[in-house]
Amino acid sequence: MELRNRPNPFAGLDSLPADYTPRQLVRTAVAGARSYVAPRRPDQRLLGSLAERARGPLPPATRTVRLQTLPQRPRSVPSRLLYERMPGADRLSLQSFVVHHPEATLLIDPAVPRDAQGQAVAELQPLLQRIVRPPATTIPTVEALDAAGVRPDFALSTHAHWDHVSGLLDLPGLPAILHDEELAWAAAGEQAPVGGVRRGLADRELLEFSLDGPPLLTFERSHDLFGDGSVVLVDLAGHTPGSVGVLLTTEDGPVLLVGDTAWHGLQIEQLRQRSGFLGCLVDVDREQTWRALHRLHALPSFVKVVPAHDHERASEWRPGE
Ligand SMILES: [Zn+2]
Repeated sequence: MELRNRPNPFAGLDSLPADYTPRQLVRTAVAGARSYVAPRRPDQRLLGSLAERARGPLPPATRTVRLQTLPQRPRSVPSRLLYERMPGADRLSLQSFVVHHPEATLLIDPAVPRDAQGQAVAELQPLLQRIVRPPATTIPTVEALDAAGVRPDFALSTHAHWDHVSGLLDLPGLPAILHDEELAWAAAGEQAPVGGVRRGLADRELLEFSLDGPPLLTFERSHDLFGDGSVVLVDLAGHTPGSVGVLLTTEDGPVLLVGDTAWHGLQIEQLRQRSGFLGCLVDVDREQTWRALHRLHALPSFVKVVPAHDHERASEWRPGE
C-alpha cells in the first residue's frame, strides 16, 4: 500500500474540545433560522463546470474489491432538525463498512465503542452530546465485526470525528490509516478541534497518505491506495479539513463512500445542505462542504454514492438484507 508511518501524536494530548464561542453560537442561531425559511439554491455555475469534468473516464482498475456493510440498527431523527427542508431522510445509523481487497481487509469508519457514552460522547461539546447520543440498541463496531466474522488488517477513517474513529477503542493494535491533512488537524492544539477522537487514535500504529494523485471525475485530488485502481481516496474537504471519499471498484461497478459530506443520499440528489443549526455546529467549513456536496451531485449516475449514516442506502451491501 502507498502509505507512510507517522509518529503517533495523540497519547499526550487532551481529547476534550474547546467550547463553542459566543460568536459561533450567534452565527448558528442566525443560520438555523434562515434555513427554516428557505433552503440554499444550488450553484449552477459550479454545477456546469463539474458536469464537464464528470464526463472524464475512470482509470481502469486492474483488481476489484468486495464491499460489506456491518450490522447496525437505525434510529429516527426528525428531518427538520437535520436538513434544510428535506423530509423523508430521517432513518440514520452509525455505520461501519468492510472492504475486502486481495491484499488486505479494511475496516472503514470504526463508528462506535462498547462504552460510547463514557468513552466518546462525554468528550463532545455539551450541546452536541444531547443530539448525537446513540440509542442503547446501537451495535458496537467490535461486536458487529465478530457477528460478521471479519478480522480487519487496517482501519481507514473518512475523517476524524468520534463516530468514525472511536470504535477503535475496542480494537487495540489495529493500525489506523488517515489522510495526512486530517491527522494534522486532529492533533493540532492543546485542546482537540472536536471531542471523542484522540483517545481512539492514541497508542496504535498510524499510517498516512497524501492526496498526491491526479484529479478524478469531479474531485481535484486523489490517492490510489493499492496502486491498482480498486480503492482510490478522493478529496472531500469541508466537513473537516481532510475529509476524504473512498472510491471502490467492485464487481458491480464503482461505489463511493462519502463519510459525512452528506448524511443521507437524498441530500445529494436534491442538493440540500444540512440545517443551519447542525451545519454550523458540525461542519468545520460550511461553504466548502456545500461545494463538496455539488461534487457528489454532479457525479455520473453509474457511481453509487453511500453516505456513512444513510441506513437504507448502505443496506444494499449488508448481507441478509
Ligand atoms: Zn463527521
